[in-house]
Amino acid sequence: MPPEKNQRGPGLSRRGALIAAAALPLSPALIGRAVAASEPLGTALPQFQRFKLGDFEVTSLLAGTRSTENPQETFGTNASPEAFAELARANFLPADRTQNYFTPVLVNTGAELVLFDTGLAPEGIAGALTAAGYRPDQIDTVVLTHMHGDHIGGLSGEAGPTFANARYVTGAAEFEHWSKAGNEGFDAKVKPLAEKMTMLDDGGAVTSGITAVAAFGHSPGHMAYALESAGKTLVLTADTVNHYVFSLQRPDWEVRFDMDKAAAAATRRKLLGWIATDRLPFIGYHMPFPGMGYLETRPDGFFMIPASYQLL
Ligand SMILES: [Zn+2]
Repeated sequence: MPPEKNQRGPGLSRRGALIAAAALPLSPALIGRAVAASEPLGTALPQFQRFKLGDFEVTSLLAGTRSTENPQETFGTNASPEAFAELARANFLPADRTQNYFTPVLVNTGAELVLFDTGLAPEGIAGALTAAGYRPDQIDTVVLTHMHGDHIGGLSGEAGPTFANARYVTGAAEFEHWSKAGNEGFDAKVKPLAEKMTMLDDGGAVTSGITAVAAFGHSPGHMAYALESAGKTLVLTADTVNHYVFSLQRPDWEVRFDMDKAAAAATRRKLLGWIATDRLPFIGYHMPFPGMGYLETRPDGFFMIPASYQLL
């Protein structure tokens, strides 16, 4: 219960009383004397969050976010509307709207800056990098987990390549597929960089402590990456999971963007099972920012426990 107005306890200074009064809900009399009303500024998110993994610094970068309607059409195409609505409700989510996040990850290994994915457009990733204290021309290596537009879009724009001094790394099977697909985005953004690109297979190394993990299904050569430093491991799951509730708690629900739906579901079971069993932190590209959490195995799938201060 709030104290009575003007009530002052023994020993409470006048300045202390003023501070205490300032912390109270405004009474109608005080509202009438407000100097000026503040305009609402709109909802807001941070643009980056930095963690420590062994000797690595890992920065989640918010390159963009957007709201979409009818999430079942994307995240549960083979689920009943009732089951979809029920799972949404159980997780305090609306069943008719979802928020998508685009989260490239920057790793400073101590020897080089490695960026995983690039968002939808150069402006988004450049803005997030700048907020985090980096310039795009400092990036040594850009890793593309796969070739969908929300991962390759930031590679270049009207001003040319975004990462002027970078080499590029991607999955061999992924590059192979898209180079023959007649895909506009790939042809415009990735093909011109082909000579600077290194192709990896399952288990291939980007650099010391960064290893490719085959996670095929979302796209033909989609790769997750394991980061390992000083005995610590973190997994970048990329688009293995496209929604932190629907695709994690029901890994067999089909996702519109998974190009091979059965393979994508099998990959979810396998990769997420490893992360849950080994109690590893992971960052998912489309998880709520900053995208990092842990996984608990549940009878129907997995449950995400967002990271808090474990890696701070
Ligand atoms: Zn994506």
